[in-house]
Amino acid sequence: MAEIILKPGREKSVILRHPWIFASAINKVNGLVSSGDTVNVLTSNGEKLGTAAYSESSQIRARMWSWDANEEINESFFETRLINAIEKRLRFVITKDCDAFRLVFGESDGLPGLIIDLYNDTLVIQVLAAGIEKHRQLICEILSRIYPDCRIFERSDADVRELEGLPDRIGLMKGKPLPEELWINENGIYYLVDITGGQKTGFYIDQRENRRKIQGYCEDKDVLNCFCYTGGFTLNAIKGGAKSVLSIDSSQPALDQLINNISRNSLDENRSSTICGDVFVELRTLRDRAESFDVIVLDPPKFAPTISQAEKAARGYKDINLLAFKLLRPGGMLFTFSCSGGISRDLFQKIVTGAALDANCSIQIIEQLSQAADHPIALNFPESMYLKGLICIK
Ligand code: SAH
Repeated sequence: MAEIILKPGREKSVILRHPWIFASAINKVNGLVSSGDTVNVLTSNGEKLGTAAYSESSQIRARMWSWDANEEINESFFETRLINAIEKRLRFVITKDCDAFRLVFGESDGLPGLIIDLYNDTLVIQVLAAGIEKHRQLICEILSRIYPDCRIFERSDADVRELEGLPDRIGLMKGKPLPEELWINENGIYYLVDITGGQKTGFYIDQRENRRKIQGYCEDKDVLNCFCYTGGFTLNAIKGGAKSVLSIDSSQPALDQLINNISRNSLDENRSSTICGDVFVELRTLRDRAESFDVIVLDPPKFAPTISQAEKAARGYKDINLLAFKLLRPGGMLFTFSCSGGISRDLFQKIVTGAALDANCSIQIIEQLSQAADHPIALNFPESMYLKGLICIK
């Protein structure tokens, strides 16, 4: 097996069990190696630290498979890790009134670059790194043994694949073709999920608990749901008794699905209205019309995937939060989120604080929110803590 030798001093993060090895940390590669291959990882003194998947074109040049240098990266390795991830979810997240879960959350589950989401009878695999790419067929076979009645669909079309030198791939890997409509049940609410063309793998599963939470704050309220996608927060708000919910998103297909979802759940469509547009623009229009709301949700896409985009992203977050505070009635609640890896929880709170100051309101945080438990945060991989949320009261 080929090996990578780290530069002196650069072994520390591997010893601390961070799974990523950057190109700049590598002194030398011994032996022939191509993208996706398993390599031994050695300190500058030749001490074995474990094995990793090599990725030729990425700045993240290798991702650790194992810190046990003797562990083979084979079928039994993948089977053990998959079963371990799934069993944990069976113990603490999988409930009867939900059938959409993240079963594997990449590095957090010891499977760098692999996402597996379960939507009813469909497993969606997303491959984000060269190492997993090499074993994707094997993973599909193991999965089909664990879930013999599920079809397996691949949604490997995330932007990061380009950094790994991997082309996009979307298609059925195993089982019956996709049904015309795939419905999921999340806490008793049904959603249509577009596995082939929807965002991410089709749905934002990570917001499950936060969506449920909003129900308790909406009785008789006027709600504004910004970046609504297919209406997760909208449906929960209506279920919670909202008087009206205005939902804004730039994607018309997402809004079409929202409308479909409301009627499928027999919720009152007269309480819902939508705007297809840019939230940055629409919030200003609402402000100029002197509109106001009791509950506002801001759940924007990643403005800063990495730290290098943090400054520009911070301006974006501040802008929408400031406008939201202005649109909020006294006593109103803001559910504000950031899923940007490049923005820490601390920084996000500072941005929201700055927005409140500039909006000239005094605001309290009544709850801190995070991602659902099927997106566990690995202590050795702080990057896995990405979804930050605050419930603020004016
Ligand atoms: N809250 C949603 C998930 C939001 S994901 C849920 O619970 O499912 C972010 C959404 O923002 C996507 O639907 C995307 O289409 C939308 N979006 C991205 N940029 C936008 C913009 N500038 N204005 C309006 N919507 C935008």
